[in-house]
Amino acid sequence: TGKFFVGGNWKCNGTKDSITKLVADLNDAKLENNVDIVVAPPYIYVDQVKQSLTDHIEISAQNCWVGKGGAFTGEISAEQLIDIGCKWVILGHSERRHIIGEDDQFIGKKAAFALSQNLKVIACIGEKLEERETGKTFDVCFQQMKSFADIILNWMDVVIAYEPVWAIGTGKVATPQQAQEVHAAIRDWLKKNVSAEVASSIRIIYGGSVNGSNCSELAKQQDIDGFLVGGASLKGSEFAIIVNSVT
Ligand code: 13P
Repeated sequence: TGKFFVGGNWKCNGTKDSITKLVADLNDAKLENNVDIVVAPPYIYVDQVKQSLTDHIEISAQNCWVGKGGAFTGEISAEQLIDIGCKWVILGHSERRHIIGEDDQFIGKKAAFALSQNLKVIACIGEKLEERETGKTFDVCFQQMKSFADIILNWMDVVIAYEPVWAIGTGKVATPQQAQEVHAAIRDWLKKNVSAEVASSIRIIYGGSVNGSNCSELAKQQDIDGFLVGGASLKGSEFAIIVNSVT
């Protein structure tokens, strides 16, 4: 698989001041060279972060509109993100699926359109607690994978983030074994349903309560190619520990 990949999803957090400090801390941090590092500020701070952050770290948006810009009040288009220097977009995050109500098909369309505009995509999937407890983890993840695979033709610019909903923001991290099991199953699904080449080259990263203390055991797992970090990405020093957990 490709380079270790660590994304920081800042979600709806921060102010001009706190983000100035976070960027300064990231600029000062000692970060491994052989890691792809991306941070996703709220839209309104993307330009500030782009202007001030080291080039070693790329910028992602947390969402984008499903097609070309126009009369879509409150939306931001892929072209606008590219225009402002954003390279990536997170799509299908569980907070957008389950709080905002985005469905599989809409998310698939967003991914295909973003890729067509040369935005790279962090495609998120993951099961809810009751789905895990009723033995539906693989079904749910494969269904979400299928909605991406039905419409994505070129997987070169895609990173898959497995984020079990029960682990997000709860402090209940998946065990290395639990995460590895699903990552291996996703890779196997890709092998059967997309291609062996995509399955072996794509990065599958884990998200959900990753922090400076649990990252290294997770990073050792064969099919864990990096992380998508929420809360712990708001502290530069802790995010650096996670970046540097590359094995
Ligand atoms: P936490 O790291 O805060 O659990 O959030 C994970 C996440 O949702 C990253 O996208």
